[in-house]
Amino acid sequence: MEKTIGLYLHVPFCKSKCPYCDFYSFVPDDSTMDAYTDALCRSLLAWKDRLPETVADTLYLGGGTPSLLGAKRLQAVLTAARQTFVTDGAEVTLEANPADDLDEVFATFAACGGKRISMGLQAGDDHTLQALGRRHSLHDAERAAKAVFDAGIKRLSLDMMLAVEGQTAANVRQTAAYIHTLGAEHASAYLLKIEPGTPFAARTLSLPDEDEAADLYLTAVDALASHGFAQYEISNFAKNGAVSRHNLKYWNSEPYLGLGPAAHSFIDGKRFAYPRSIAAFMDGGEPTAEAPDTATFAENSPEEYALLRLRLTDGLTETDFAARFGRSIPTAWRDRAARLPKSLVTVDSDGIRLTPEGFLVSNAIFAQIFP
Ligand code: SF4
Repeated sequence: MEKTIGLYLHVPFCKSKCPYCDFYSFVPDDSTMDAYTDALCRSLLAWKDRLPETVADTLYLGGGTPSLLGAKRLQAVLTAARQTFVTDGAEVTLEANPADDLDEVFATFAACGGKRISMGLQAGDDHTLQALGRRHSLHDAERAAKAVFDAGIKRLSLDMMLAVEGQTAANVRQTAAYIHTLGAEHASAYLLKIEPGTPFAARTLSLPDEDEAADLYLTAVDALASHGFAQYEISNFAKNGAVSRHNLKYWNSEPYLGLGPAAHSFIDGKRFAYPRSIAAFMDGGEPTAEAPDTATFAENSPEEYALLRLRLTDGLTETDFAARFGRSIPTAWRDRAARLPKSLVTVDSDGIRLTPEGFLVSNAIFAQIFP
């Protein structure tokens, strides 16, 4: 029987490294991008041989900066994806950097069935952009957003970063307004995390403390809502139900295949990932079983499903839990959740849900419900 998955292709290239980023990406030359494009296409064919009865109704090209591949390589990858897994009408998303000249890339993407662009806007004020060391200006962002719509692509998602040095609630409100003005239908808001080994980790930064960061997050939730973006996940917001179908697969524990260095997969109840090495991937290296942070969770376990579902504003519902596991949400989970403050967690006949305040302390809540 035909199975439907999400397909993720990792493109580990960036023009320069942002000082806070620890994603697997580096500055490439043309020959590396050519060789990597070939490796991705080969990998798609090889996986199709392994999963002949599988199709993908979402494709997400992430990174890194996949738009850096340029029109010709992007066309090759999209063609291979269509020839192997990707169905007509699939949600096809490309991450792009607003600093770049994207007209040709977007035109090619649209011609190859591309539906959605996701860009790291990060801020709607120059001060915060500079504090983050981003390559683009507000002018670049406006040009890039216009290029999306000029190419006939209707769906735009923009990211914003929270808890940046010197960032105020007014900056956050300005960014939410700017995302709306640029015509996005989807927004993601992430709290800046200082990752070990990044340039930010080596600097003395005067960052908002935990309470200030929490206030900035709640300001973002409120400001985005005032522009019509309804929160549907801890960090994600959509107008008129324009959620990311691809990312929803992660939170709904639906299957996905990730190709490229550092890309993760969840196929037939098994989680596995490619090593963070482009050389290993291009040499045909295999992914390995994901080390469970996870020692606590058996594969495809109800606990793991519940933990991912609680990231969504819909939460863990009785209906979906019963459809998946053939039983009710365990009483012990309900009882533990019900003992937590109502400002953080809602428990009723529909199931268990976190509030925006609860999302801020989600890990502590998960530890209470699933000890
Ligand atoms: S553009 Fe994105 S992936 Fe590349 S270094 Fe910056 S934050 Fe990381």
